Amino acid sequence: ALRQSTSVQKVDPVHWSDIGGLEGVKKVLEESVIWLYKHAEAYARMGITPSKGVLLYGPPGTGKTLLAKAVATESEANFMAVSIPDLIKGEVGESEKAIAKVFHTATRCSPCIVFLDELEAIFGTRESSGGLGKQLISQLLLEMDSCGKGVVILAATNHPEAIDGSILRPGRLDRLVYVPPPNFKERVAILEILKNTTRFSDTVDLRTVSNLTNNFTGADMKAIVRKAGLYALKANRTSIDAQDFFAATSDVQPSMNQIGLLRY
Ligand code: ATP
Repeated sequence: ALRQSTSVQKVDPVHWSDIGGLEGVKKVLEESVIWLYKHAEAYARMGITPSKGVLLYGPPGTGKTLLAKAVATESEANFMAVSIPDLIKGEVGESEKAIAKVFHTATRCSPCIVFLDELEAIFGTRESSGGLGKQLISQLLLEMDSCGKGVVILAATNHPEAIDGSILRPGRLDRLVYVPPPNFKERVAILEILKNTTRFSDTVDLRTVSNLTNNFTGADMKAIVRKAGLYALKANRTSIDAQDFFAATSDVQPSMNQIGLLRY
């Protein structure tokens, strides 16, 4: 049976404007992916192997998946999201087949962005399962090296230290891009976006909310808006008030601590 993760997905289009902050990351992705699509022939003529894509790293919930979807939307490419842990949990031989299938499908559907989430999971298999892990990694590298030119890979990890250097060589994922948690201004930008789909009353000052949400990631911001919405509903209001945000901030904890380290 074709696994869910090895098929091209219909996703709601995500535009750059749906992502708050991360301007530097957007620019790097726009340039590098557009470069890959537009200049493939120039590379070939020069006899140089182009890069296969980009590795995004950073804390969870900072928008890596969102960025990958936006790259697909903005470059009018298909989108395939693959969770590496899901892909490799099968029996011996099955995982290899699943990896091959991902890249064959992507090549068939190119231009296609393949989003490999939790990439570090494949490297964790190396020691624990002896030869099997090694085999999986070489299969991934092989598929990466031989898939169609229209396939661009965006991989994501919260654990860049666990990623084997072999995948970062020239012609593979040779660009490492940090996706940071949002600063004060970026949190305001994320709130502006969340405000488009949730009803905020005039009492809500986004700068005040941003001040209340130090160390929050984009995903945390989404959680706090939801929680504030629930307070508003409970109080029979039709829009979220400032007081709902105050109440919600005592419920939702940031995923990161003061020095930007992750809570595990
Ligand atoms: P993980 O590493 O856990 O997979 P991620 O970095 O891929 O996380 P996303 O899944 O892209 O994070 O983000 C989760 C949700 O948080 C998004 O669907 C979006 O609603 C919200 N979000 C995160 N970052 C942003 C942002 N910069 N702008 C707007 N919304 C954001």
